Amino acid sequence: MFQAVDSPYLVPFDGSFEIEGAPQGPPEDVPPKEELKERLQESVGRLYDLQRRLYASDQWAVLTVFQAMDAGGKDSTIRRVFSGVNPAGFQVSSFKKPSAEELDHDFLWRTSRRLPERGRIGVFNRSYYEEVLVVRVHPAILQGQRIPESLLGDDVWEQRLEDIRHHELHLARNGTAVVKFWLNVSKEEQKRRFLARIDRPEKNWKFSEGDVAERKRWDDYRAAYQDAVGKTSRPWAPWYAIPADSKPYMRMVVADLLVRTLEALDVHYPRVSDERRAELQDMRAKLANSD
Ligand code: ATP
Ligand code: MG
Repeated sequence: MFQAVDSPYLVPFDGSFEIEGAPQGPPEDVPPKEELKERLQESVGRLYDLQRRLYASDQWAVLTVFQAMDAGGKDSTIRRVFSGVNPAGFQVSSFKKPSAEELDHDFLWRTSRRLPERGRIGVFNRSYYEEVLVVRVHPAILQGQRIPESLLGDDVWEQRLEDIRHHELHLARNGTAVVKFWLNVSKEEQKRRFLARIDRPEKNWKFSEGDVAERKRWDDYRAAYQDAVGKTSRPWAPWYAIPADSKPYMRMVVADLLVRTLEALDVHYPRVSDERRAELQDMRAKLANSD
């Protein structure tokens, strides 16, 4: 199976993750902004090439999951990191409040329909993890899912986490590399970004009163994240807790992790046998000599 690449931000696999210790800012020796941007661009170029090879070899699929509090920077990170990738080989799916049709199914149904095919990179902007985050913080949402009452015991969250672990193991065993990024933004930085959304007219469209209401539940979300991230990080489906207060640093780290993840899959253009090469040369000669 696919094995997680190492990083100081890799969430341990043994359940010992402590959200309080997870850094939100870059390290002290962070390179200057310009260098971070250069490194991001280098990774963007590498991703272009790696994704073409992934597509040509047509065996592995790659699922990247992005989760964050509001204003954590999911959208812009996805936009920048994948800016060089051929749109034909990659697909972003955003998951918002479920539709009536989606609520008529189990909670993994809607995301399962959007899983990447072999050879492709799928990006989930929010995901089935919302089912143990927003739904956990607002149990009324769970009531709205019309699950038979007798199935909703106190262990419903543990069960969902277990279901998610099994789901990701199943994906991994079938050739999907699952890589998950939690963009860990601080409460102060979120406030700065919300204020900028109000102060700057070109950002007004991003501001929502609802986001301010969710901010009041900050500690409940942190508790839910600690459990969700800490109990579902596995070698074949790792979580990375990325410091998100500096966007240039965050993007550089995410892009670098993706490059190394794809490199670890060791994908190559299909190898051409000597026999086939001879056939191709033969066809070439015929074609070149035709009118
Ligand atoms: P984002 O906040 O991701 O940048 P957006 O602002 O365009 O996107 P929102 O209207 O905020 O869109 O949609 C996302 C909202 O949908 C979030 O509040 C999220 O918690 C909620 N959501 C996502 N999945 C579920 C789910 N399974 N059940 C209930 N709510 C969900
Ligand atoms: Mg939103």
